[in-house]
Amino acid sequence: MKMDIFFEIHKGLPREGPGSNEATRKAFSFLKNLPLNLHILDVGCGPGMQTIEIAKMIKGKIIALDTHKPFIDELNRRAKMGGLQNKIETIEISMFSMDFEEEIFDIIWSEGAIYIIGFERGLNEWLHLVKKDGYIVVSELSWLKMNPPLEIKKYLEVEYPPIKSVEENKQIIKKTGYRFLNSFILPESGWWDDYYIPLENRISLLRKKYHNNIEVNITLDETLEEIEMYRKYSKYYGYIFYIMQKPDI
Ligand code: SAM
Repeated sequence: MKMDIFFEIHKGLPREGPGSNEATRKAFSFLKNLPLNLHILDVGCGPGMQTIEIAKMIKGKIIALDTHKPFIDELNRRAKMGGLQNKIETIEISMFSMDFEEEIFDIIWSEGAIYIIGFERGLNEWLHLVKKDGYIVVSELSWLKMNPPLEIKKYLEVEYPPIKSVEENKQIIKKTGYRFLNSFILPESGWWDDYYIPLENRISLLRKKYHNNIEVNITLDETLEEIEMYRKYSKYYGYIFYIMQKPDI
């Protein structure tokens, strides 16, 4: 039941985590000297807002993978609507069982999903899949300030362990063998416009539909709590885009 309501909350939203087309384009603009025909992997693509945006900018092919079939179906629908189906190939597999050949991707992209495998483990495992001089772009929830208030510290430690500071993540990037190129904070509008506002609207609708169902209302409360935490503490944490390159050695 909890799973069913989770998917009813999330079904058909523009995206499945904070982000924006503007931020996707900004992150892409840091990638230089790219080959004409790109081979890109999008890990944890969700309904693919970023996949579509990248496909519009490039020549070549994006392999977009996710474990949740309805998101894959939605991305296929969007790709078809945008006439981009030749550039986007979707696959329903887990990031824990990717068995691509070594060094075949020019870019590995992952917005809001590397935390599932873990920032460090993900970077370590993906290093082998990206070509020399190729790029990895990920967005990852990170502390923006030291010493956050206890309420948000405790909340995120339970909901999103292990959240690290930007500096700590930059150290991990270097330790795992990449050249760190750039990072930037996703603006607050990137949390609200295509994610939290549609999510809040969906919660209001489901409140009416399930007003007698205690279990569903608990899940809706939990989702609202996440949004309220961000409203209250957005100065302390955020999504950071990290852009890095595999050295040619
Ligand atoms: N990148 C999308 C976006 O920004 O809208 C989705 C981000 S969402 C926070 C995380 C995504 O990871 C979800 O679509 C979820 O289905 C997917 N996911 C969860 N576990 C996964 C796994 N083991 N392998 C691949 N994708 C997974």
